Amino acid sequence: MHGNTLVSFPSGALTGEATVRQVLPLDGSFGVVCDTTPFHPVDHTWPDQPADRGVLTAEGEAYAVEDALIGAAPRDGSAPLAVGPGIPVRRGEEGWDWYVVHVLAADPGPLTGRRVRLEVDPERRHRLSAGHTLCELVGLALNRMLAPRWSKEAKPDALGAPDFDKLAITSSRIFAHGSVDHYRLGKSLRRKGFSAEGLAAELPGIEAGVNTLMAGWVAEDAPVGVATEGPGIDALRHFRCALAEGEASTPCGGTHVTRTGELGQVKVTLELSGDGTELRMEAKCS
Ligand SMILES: [Zn+2]
Repeated sequence: MHGNTLVSFPSGALTGEATVRQVLPLDGSFGVVCDTTPFHPVDHTWPDQPADRGVLTAEGEAYAVEDALIGAAPRDGSAPLAVGPGIPVRRGEEGWDWYVVHVLAADPGPLTGRRVRLEVDPERRHRLSAGHTLCELVGLALNRMLAPRWSKEAKPDALGAPDFDKLAITSSRIFAHGSVDHYRLGKSLRRKGFSAEGLAAELPGIEAGVNTLMAGWVAEDAPVGVATEGPGIDALRHFRCALAEGEASTPCGGTHVTRTGELGQVKVTLELSGDGTELRMEAKCS
């Protein structure tokens, strides 16, 4: 079994035909690896967007795909295929191939070499795509609103503001029509030039500013897309959004809606922890 799984989800594909390369037992379930797939898997190193779900049909038999994971194996066959957090190497490691592993609860039997049909649940995909596009854009809006708090030059985001979202983020979770990001406001951020002084008092104004920026970007109905540097699951991908003020482009492995107008009504809430060292941003759209 050689070569990375080719993926069609970056262009928005939801269905496809594929050839099964391997079926492997997982902990209480079964993993199916194909040559190509429309399924977006959860990323094992930065699990922000949950995997697609859907159906795999083989010889007239339909199996629920309950999860999709990243798999990796050394090309020389010196170790078995590892899945998700069990992958012992870093992404891009020389000599390793990268796969999408479709997780089935039911044993599909010996499918290797067979043609199968793969269908992603379109509603779940769309809800998660909306959540992810929202997540990328609110990060940029937050950067813009926090820009006056930087005293040193910090790496800028795609729209030119200091990239607080990238420098301070500790976790990001995408949901149906929403996202929650956590940011650490510690010593290392302060050393980079960010001041959190008086942030609690200013938070309502910052939150209102983020909501105003978001309402403007949604009203623009700007085109959104995913740019990819290659056809495989291992390729670097970018979120792209052509806003009137400039093109936002950030590294992102997820899926997205096609226009900002699809987000509808956006509501962003900011919350500072009692000791002021953690900022939580929750975003919802309709
Ligand atoms: Zn992303």
